[in-house]
Amino acid sequence: MKIAIYPGSFDPITKGHLDILKNASEIFDKVIIAVARNGEKKGFLTVDERVKLIKESVKDFDNVEVDSFEGLTIEYAKQHGAEVLIRGLRAVSDFEYEMQLSQTNSALCSDIKTVFLTTKPKYNFISSSTIKEILNNGGDISKFVPECVFKYLTQNK
Ligand code: ADP
Repeated sequence: MKIAIYPGSFDPITKGHLDILKNASEIFDKVIIAVARNGEKKGFLTVDERVKLIKESVKDFDNVEVDSFEGLTIEYAKQHGAEVLIRGLRAVSDFEYEMQLSQTNSALCSDIKTVFLTTKPKYNFISSSTIKEILNNGGDISKFVPECVFKYLTQNK
């Protein structure tokens, strides 16, 4: 059984993340989407809010689980029997950071490989930070996020 972890902030989850997840769920037997609990960073949404919104967004995927974790991603992957980390690539600007991250993880544990996926072009430009900015300035985010996220953010933020 091939298990992949899709780690990230997901603050909030977007249609870009969901498209990456859909592709991953078609390639791997099980995908765990895991929200990193980064102790020092104060997020826009709490980790529990993010996990709840992700669970609602992925309820139609049979082989996707949602979780959160503290500490090193590769340690979390090892504990869950995962051999693969999923990351997404948007523009060239993602490349340097993602390359460094994957090579660092590979140096820490060579058994765990990073697989990069891309989205459909219509989701490619979406980022959680742009969504927060649009929302803070009263713009319409409905095209960029799952419906439950749209409802939650427009009612609570
Ligand atoms: P992190 O803080 O770990 O970068 P994010 O939630 O911002 O977490 O993103 C998680 C992963 O999903 C990253 O690899 C990021 O490049 C990827 N990603 C986010 N949005 C998109 C998108 N629209 N298209 C492709 N990949 C994406």
